[in-house]
Amino acid sequence: MGRVYNFSAGPAVLPESVLREAAEEMLDYRGCGMSVMEMSHRSSAFKEIIDQAEADLRDLMGIPDNYKVLFLQGGGSTQFAMVPLNLMRNGRADYVVSGSWSKKAYLEAKRFGDARMVGDSSDGNFSYVPDVAELTVNPDADYVYICQNETIYGTTYHELPDTGDVPLVSDVSSCFLSEPIDVAKYGLIYGGAQKNVGPAGVTVVIVRDDLIPDADLPGVPTMLQYKTHADAGSMYNTPPCYAIYMCGKVFKWIKAQGGLAGMRDLNVAKAQLLYDALDDSDLFHGTARKADRSLMNVPFVTGDKDLDAKFIAEADAAGLKNIKGHRSVGGMRASIYNAMPIEGVQALVDFMRDFETRNAVGPRSI
Ligand SMILES: *Cc1c(COP(=O)(O)O)cnc(C)c1O
Repeated sequence: MGRVYNFSAGPAVLPESVLREAAEEMLDYRGCGMSVMEMSHRSSAFKEIIDQAEADLRDLMGIPDNYKVLFLQGGGSTQFAMVPLNLMRNGRADYVVSGSWSKKAYLEAKRFGDARMVGDSSDGNFSYVPDVAELTVNPDADYVYICQNETIYGTTYHELPDTGDVPLVSDVSSCFLSEPIDVAKYGLIYGGAQKNVGPAGVTVVIVRDDLIPDADLPGVPTMLQYKTHADAGSMYNTPPCYAIYMCGKVFKWIKAQGGLAGMRDLNVAKAQLLYDALDDSDLFHGTARKADRSLMNVPFVTGDKDLDAKFIAEADAAGLKNIKGHRSVGGMRASIYNAMPIEGVQALVDFMRDFETRNAVGPRSI
């Protein structure tokens, strides 16, 4: 069986050329006679891999010198705790809850301090992003937290909230490196790699120097202190070596696509293709508010559960994989991350049109 079009929300599709390169280097990494999986993280070969990965990421995102780049473990979910543990100096933070991931982060933060929900779109089953212009940030908050792209509901911030002097913290797990970003607008950005930049196992944290507590935090495990990892160049303990190596290859691949601006153009073209098909269709409907639509995750439904199930099964048989939506939205979800080629989106759109013809909806009842 050949490669399929994999619309999984994560772990997700990776660039085929990256996988081929990794396969070629699997048994003997550049004359070392061993795999990257087998080498010491203290070796000069691995040091070069992690240094190059960081340099390429800094270059891609234009990360200013006063920000640290950390390669951590524990997934995005561990950041739900690390952010409040390290950044809640006065015990207060503001959270915008625009979906399941920001809700989880908010609930986790409440374990450690006074986390306040300052925006909430649960009334619309998280089909939209709360209006950032109406956001009232508490000036005494240690930070304002958002999840920039809600993977399950397919919504994204097309405009960032203005938080004044209060640092903005953003979970970018499912939109990481999908378009240009102004790092200086944030205090901290983090993303689990397995959505858009690599395999599961590494979480990238980009944090402004002055937000990293400079003294030991009593009661906070050593591994959960940003300072531990910042001081040790992400080498306090064994880092997720192989995942970092794969991310490094993806960073190079993104550079070859024209960097983040090139990536955005490709992603916009793909998303446009799919959203146009949804807007033209009498059968399929996008579930996210148009103004807040994500470039990466596209949930849609027919409105008929049996028909959704039929579509998912037939799409699967046609090589369009993992298109089933999350249970909290139902229907379908196509994740069209960086590595999904436009041919994959075209194949999905063609399949949707064909399915619609074969399952023609009659004239709408009045
Ligand atoms: C997947 C996801 C997470 C959770 O990531 P884990 O690595 O599984 O802990 C957090 N935030 C967002 C936006 C996600 O898409």
